Formats: sequence, structure tokens, C-alpha cells
Amino acid sequence: MTAPNEVAPLVLIVSGPSGSGKSTLVQKILELPGTMPSVSCTTRPRRTTEASGKCYDFITDKEFGAMVQRGEFLEYAQVFGKHSYGTPKKWLEESRKTGLDLVLEIDVQGAAQVKQKLPESVAIFILPPSREELERRLRSRGQDSDEEIARRLARARDEIAEFGKYYDYCVVNDDVARAGLEVQAIVTALRCSSARRRGRVEKLLASFGGK
Ligand code: 5GP
Repeated sequence: MTAPNEVAPLVLIVSGPSGSGKSTLVQKILELPGTMPSVSCTTRPRRTTEASGKCYDFITDKEFGAMVQRGEFLEYAQVFGKHSYGTPKKWLEESRKTGLDLVLEIDVQGAAQVKQKLPESVAIFILPPSREELERRLRSRGQDSDEEIARRLARARDEIAEFGKYYDYCVVNDDVARAGLEVQAIVTALRCSSARRRGRVEKLLASFGGK
């Protein structure tokens, strides 16, 4: 299959503080035909709600280290200073083979690495509406201790302070329906950019008998 626009598929990075609702917005992007997810590898333990291979490939530290040695990651990082997370290069290869736009849900450190390796990639940052709302969302999950929530809030502050360095777009997730439309609109607009439509234009001109 060739890409609809006959150019390399998009590489879309989505990041945001934990509690910003980025996973829901990634699902909104993946509802668009012509997209595919990247499945990260992680050394963090699987939560009871997670099936292996769906959200993540859960692997051991040893396996992760071996993949690093073999150069199998497009990017990798330690998140929250604890567990390792990485994007296998195979998803990029798969995306190029199938022509599907690739969606990576990764943290700011990973985004910096992908932007360096693939400057044409596009990064979207998801902002929570306020600090208070972020804290409320983290608490309502009932999953973290006070100490962990304080850590996540401090990290959110650092990520928000940094985001201007690497991100092309910013979506405020105060209303999930609107934010969902916004992330989909970003992808649609990128697909319609003149640079990506050049092949189409040339074909059309050829059908007119050339320039
Ligand atoms: P969680 O453990 O809550 O699923 O994810 C923690 C953080 O790790 C999130 O910010 C998530 O975006 C990030 N993350 C998930 N997969 C990757 C990856 O492959 N690479 C990097 N750099 N970060 C990731």
C-alpha cells in the first residue's frame, strides 16, 4: 500500500503530564483512518487493567538493556526516574511499509530524541486546564499516594515549562469533545499541507498534459 499522499507517513508525537488526558486524545487520533499506534516497551510492572501487547510490551530490565545494545529503539528514557520506556524502531518501519501515520504517546525526553532524529515529526502537547484540575484528576484515579501525586505535579510543572522547546501544537484538555476535535483537526490539516500534496498536484498537472 502506498501512502495516500505518496509521501512518507506522518510521525505524530503526543505528550502531556500524567492526568492531562492524553491517552483519550491519542485514541481520538487513532479513530482517524490511515493511522497506527506505536506500542512502547516498558520495564514497569503491568497494572491489572492492562493487557500485554495492547498498551505496552512489558519486558524485563535485561530484555530492555539488550534491545538498547542492539540499537532497536527509536528513542528511550527513564520516566519518573524509575522505569524505562522505549519506542521500538520496528513501528516506524511498519508505518513506512504500510503508509499509515504513526502515533507515539511518549514523554518530553522521548519527544526531544525523536525530534532530533526525525525533524519532520510533529509534536502535540496536551495541557491540563489548571493545576487544581490536574490534582483533582490525579486524586480521583485513586491510584497514587500523596507523595506520588506531589511528584507527578512537580513533574507536570517541569514539563509545561519545557514544552515550548519541542512541541509544534498545544491542545488544552478542558473539554474532551472539543480537544478531541482539535487533535483530529491538526492531523487533517497536516495531511492537507501543500508540501504533502505536491505529488497529487504533479499527477493532476500530468493529466492536463504536463506543465
Ligand atoms: P505510564 O507508566 O503512566 O503508562 O506512563 C508514564 C509516562 O511514560 C507517560 O508520560 C508516557 O507518555 C511515557 N511513555 C510511555 N511510553 C513511552 C516511550 O516509549 N518512551 C518515552 N520516552 N516515554 C513513554
